[in-house]
Amino acid sequence: MNAYDTDVIVSLLEERGYAIVRTPDSADCIIVNTCSVRDHAEQRAIGRLLDLSRHRDAVIVVCGCMAQRLGTALFDLVPAVRIVAGTDSYALLPDALAAAVREGGRFAFLDMDYDAYEAPTAKSSRCVSRYVSITRGCENYCSYCIVPYLRGKVRSRSADSIIREISSVVAGGAKEVTLLGQNVIAYRDGRIDFSGLAERILAETEVRRLRFLTSHPRDVDAAVFELMAREKRFCNHIHLPVQAGSNRILAAMNRGYTRETYLEKLREARRIVPGIAVTTDIIVGFPSETDDEFRQTLDLVREARFDAAFTFQYSPRAGTAAGERPDDVSAGKKKERLFALNAVVQQERARILLAQLGSRTEILLDGAAQKGEYRLLKGRTPEFRNVLVPPDSLSDGDIVSVALKRLVNFTFEGEVAAGK
Ligand code: SAH
Ligand code: SF4
Repeated sequence: MNAYDTDVIVSLLEERGYAIVRTPDSADCIIVNTCSVRDHAEQRAIGRLLDLSRHRDAVIVVCGCMAQRLGTALFDLVPAVRIVAGTDSYALLPDALAAAVREGGRFAFLDMDYDAYEAPTAKSSRCVSRYVSITRGCENYCSYCIVPYLRGKVRSRSADSIIREISSVVAGGAKEVTLLGQNVIAYRDGRIDFSGLAERILAETEVRRLRFLTSHPRDVDAAVFELMAREKRFCNHIHLPVQAGSNRILAAMNRGYTRETYLEKLREARRIVPGIAVTTDIIVGFPSETDDEFRQTLDLVREARFDAAFTFQYSPRAGTAAGERPDDVSAGKKKERLFALNAVVQQERARILLAQLGSRTEILLDGAAQKGEYRLLKGRTPEFRNVLVPPDSLSDGDIVSVALKRLVNFTFEGEVAAGK
């Protein structure tokens, strides 16, 4: 989401004649886009801002969730900061920057415009795979999560505007689009729901591959899987964050599903879309999580057949429901659990990927990679698996058929089988 928002900001500024420079030394303006999901992310952003404060001639701007959360307190924490721009204020940035340069002084924009929000459209980067935001905000209030407080209620963009943006990025060379939202399944434009939107995008644009991120396990339904099974361009991958394996912890997290209903969703997905890849997010050390409850998370990972998992130590966020509870799993225990969890995640990941060796699939090439002295091209399968191939006469944006020959560090080495 932040990568997309950064694109939005860059587009808005480029329209006013700004250009990206290579080093902060030559910048008139330095913008730091921040995350508040965990304390660690905020600490790193503050560290970076303090470091950037050396560049006395540049106007320093903080935007994103930490700007929204800390507001004008950021002026005290990092005195060099001149503009604090909350999560809904990016359209105001170009004027604010001009004013900061012209008049000096400090500016803070923290209003959240819940109703008539139409995200400014990102136009800047020209690459093969692009993000397109379809909703902003979240109203799920998972008990550990700060996002609903900082990004506001769910607002969906109009389907027409999303289709216009996708057509424009495709005309600019994009082959793949990832639809973004905290829970894309919450998408609504009149009678168009998420599957209806995806169906329209596939019918009305030339995008070669469509993905989405993230969907909530409680809300995702068979219609999404059926569309995936029917439409080759709708990639066979779903990121479905499970967070924990114990029903008591899932209830305390306010996730709205149980271990059993989650696993049933996966069975349904795999019945409708054979070979679908599933990735997830998991938190260890939620308040009061016992050793036995943590073991249930490990068991779930063994059962669920995840391709990959992002794993996190619980970080208390002030103002959230869980943040009010004692953070009573010790730092040492959280670390230990994360280590044990990652070992099982990697083991399962290797098992799933090894089973793919020898198969044929299609990859979209999206960049170069260096392997020793060889230059290779990297691509992704529809399941979001990484594959390296020899460059031959290929280039970024090509979609080629490959045979998966070897697996090294969770990345396949492939042999190109046929032309584009
Ligand atoms: N909207 C998305 C993700 C939001 S944040 C979703 O619902 O899946 C990304 C991930 O960060 C979450 O899935 C969760 O695993 C993790 N996370 C969120 N708040 C956290 C906290 N307070 N401590 C640790 N991890 C957290
Ligand atoms: Fe946070 Fe839950 Fe919303 Fe995701 S669904 S952003 S974890 S509150």
